[in-house]
Amino acid sequence: METIIRKIDKNQINQDVIEEAGNVLKQGGLVAFPTETVYGLGGADALKEEAAKKTYAAKGRPSDNPLIVHIADYEDLKKVAVNIPPETDALAAHFWPGPLTMIFEKSESVPYGTTGGLDTVAVRMPSDPIAAALIRAAGGFVSAPSANTSGRPSPTTAEHVRVDLEGKIDMILDGGAVDIGLESTILDMTVEPPMILRPGAITADMFEEVIGPVSVDETLVNSESKQAPKAPGMKYRHYAPKAKMMIVEGNIREEILAIRQLAYAAHREGKEVGIIATGGNSSVL
Ligand code: AMP
Ligand code: MG
Repeated sequence: METIIRKIDKNQINQDVIEEAGNVLKQGGLVAFPTETVYGLGGADALKEEAAKKTYAAKGRPSDNPLIVHIADYEDLKKVAVNIPPETDALAAHFWPGPLTMIFEKSESVPYGTTGGLDTVAVRMPSDPIAAALIRAAGGFVSAPSANTSGRPSPTTAEHVRVDLEGKIDMILDGGAVDIGLESTILDMTVEPPMILRPGAITADMFEEVIGPVSVDETLVNSESKQAPKAPGMKYRHYAPKAKMMIVEGNIREEILAIRQLAYAAHREGKEVGIIATGGNSSVL
């Protein structure tokens, strides 16, 4: 399949391009688009059972890993979720549109194909104007995971998406680099108090200021925990770069020596080397 790539400027949205992309989605095609967190892979109508299958196939994603339903208007939440708790209004007023995904009991309209068989649904309202325009053009409910092959890092530019998914999806909307580059925080609203299932751009402290204390999925803080994480996606390999990673630990002199030796050896083998260092040791490397 040929992947069409269209440039689009979020400060001056070209409605023709949005309509073209919206039509691709309505016809069941896949469109990668920028959001403020990472590039998403729009997979048509989140309310149609069949739509999600193509998304799973293009990403190579296990089908028990549910998709996030993206909306552009707050009133649309009521069409996909039921028993919405009262704190939701305050959270939405502060953090929507933005990098927050909330989990609710799903309504009858949401098929199990979208939720990976769960009775709950993940909903997000992105703030990127390209994302919002595309969601509206596609009918209001777009299921979209991050636009990367499962297990690879989430893409923050259209070029990342092209390298990873060209030939597997119908279209890429190139709106430049994303703002945040980190996935949305997932907050489970079906428990009391709400529980963070995936850390992200919005922190527990930020939630606390709005609705009081929230809890955190135990499997995120305790690596010994035998329980399965509550967000199914968290059990899979995540953020795996295609490079070898090494952690160097010790006293500062040994650290610096070891890093220099490793970097020199890799460099001689013709490899590219990147070093992430703290303020303490970066100045002497
Ligand atoms: P991605 O779209 O790639 O950011 O991944 C979506 C994340 O949301 C995955 O970690 C999913 O497991 C998680 N997720 C989606 N729906 C639900 C749900 N109903 N309950 C818990 N986690 C969910
Ligand atoms: Mg992802």
